[in-house]
Amino acid sequence: MSAITCKFGGSSLADTQAFKRVSDIIAANPGRRFIVPSAPGKRRPDDKKITDLLYAWHSLATQGLDVSEPRGIIAARFEQLAVELKVDFNIHEHIEAIASAENASPGPDFMASRGEYLNGLLLAKLLEAEFVDAADFIKFDEEGGLDPCTYDLLGARLKGPGRFVIPGFYGSLPDGTIKTFSRGGSDVTGAIVARASSSDLYENWTDVPGFLMADPAIVPESHRIDEITYQELRELSYMGAKVLHDEAIFPVRQPGIPINIRSTKEPDNPGTMILPRRDATQLICGIAGRKGFTMLNIEKTLMNKERGFGRRVLAVLEEHGVSFEHMPTGIDTMSIIVEDEELLNHGAAIVKGIERTCEPDRVSLNPGLALIATVGQGMAGHTGVAGRLCMALAEAEVNIRVIDQGSSENNIIIGVEEDDLERAVRAIYHEFADA
Ligand code: ASP
Repeated sequence: MSAITCKFGGSSLADTQAFKRVSDIIAANPGRRFIVPSAPGKRRPDDKKITDLLYAWHSLATQGLDVSEPRGIIAARFEQLAVELKVDFNIHEHIEAIASAENASPGPDFMASRGEYLNGLLLAKLLEAEFVDAADFIKFDEEGGLDPCTYDLLGARLKGPGRFVIPGFYGSLPDGTIKTFSRGGSDVTGAIVARASSSDLYENWTDVPGFLMADPAIVPESHRIDEITYQELRELSYMGAKVLHDEAIFPVRQPGIPINIRSTKEPDNPGTMILPRRDATQLICGIAGRKGFTMLNIEKTLMNKERGFGRRVLAVLEEHGVSFEHMPTGIDTMSIIVEDEELLNHGAAIVKGIERTCEPDRVSLNPGLALIATVGQGMAGHTGVAGRLCMALAEAEVNIRVIDQGSSENNIIIGVEEDDLERAVRAIYHEFADA
């Protein structure tokens, strides 16, 4: 029997019905033995996530303000779940314990982690599974990176028969203080548990039936992606396709454990399989785009002959702590694409620094750029893909401001005006979706 790690997101554990669906999914396959829950999420669009309420509780407490509102809502939600699920779970004792720990100022991470902790305890009772506190087995080093000892520690704890519930989102620092991953980090816990338990599969259960080829807000008829590689997924997620936390790939990539994204609302839908390799019969597997980039354009006659020009330009960016995305060049021109959030208010100082150290003919900042990644391993060595892409954009009357393709040939990046983003994504989708 293959061993499966299942992570359930907050929307899949938001209310009693959702918990029952999760319990049925787990019961349907005895291999589903390692269960990683998030904290309860929103039940309706205007609802509050438990994690957000816990952050609010912490913030009010540190300002010496009244915490009874978030505290009361959290207690009431867990109480309702326990009563409706008929689980013996004294939420009030736990809330008291959290409140007295909060008095000792344990920090926001401790408070935020309590959503997963409480949900893990509740789910373990419902499933009659063993509860394993992530604080004791998921270890961070002094710098906040994952300590590799985690895999052996947790692996040893997860030996033996039966089911285990390991709350997502947190672990502990060497001094025992609780530390969380960044938001959405239960995905990372799931990947760590999958590797530590030598699972054959990591099922990531959420409220969408896998990855779509393009953002459904832009292309409502978008197809689901059946199979995608870790690398393709990374490229798409980086450009804005968000279903899985960016760091969730790393723990499973080395042992090659596949990740299956599935929806608890459609348990029969096979979802998307994320694999080390795939049969690249399809040219393009996905298209993703994001607004919010600025192009730094530099011109200088005979730039191509000047030794160290690029290094001096990049040193200016480094001095301001700014990282860049792409750097397409011409003979006498160089463009550097930077995310607006990264550039913040360093733009003018960077321009001055380049003028001083590189003496260019012209240097300017050009905001309002959107980047679109068209990703697929099937593109490598295949003629005509960029041609078709450019034709599709021309027909949609989208001007390409910049184009870039890395040496792996599995990703073509184009830059367009922000207002053209949606039209461009639709044009590329319709060119390649059925190819
Ligand atoms: N509950 C945490 C959050 O809201 C972690 C997670 O759901 O993965 O970010």
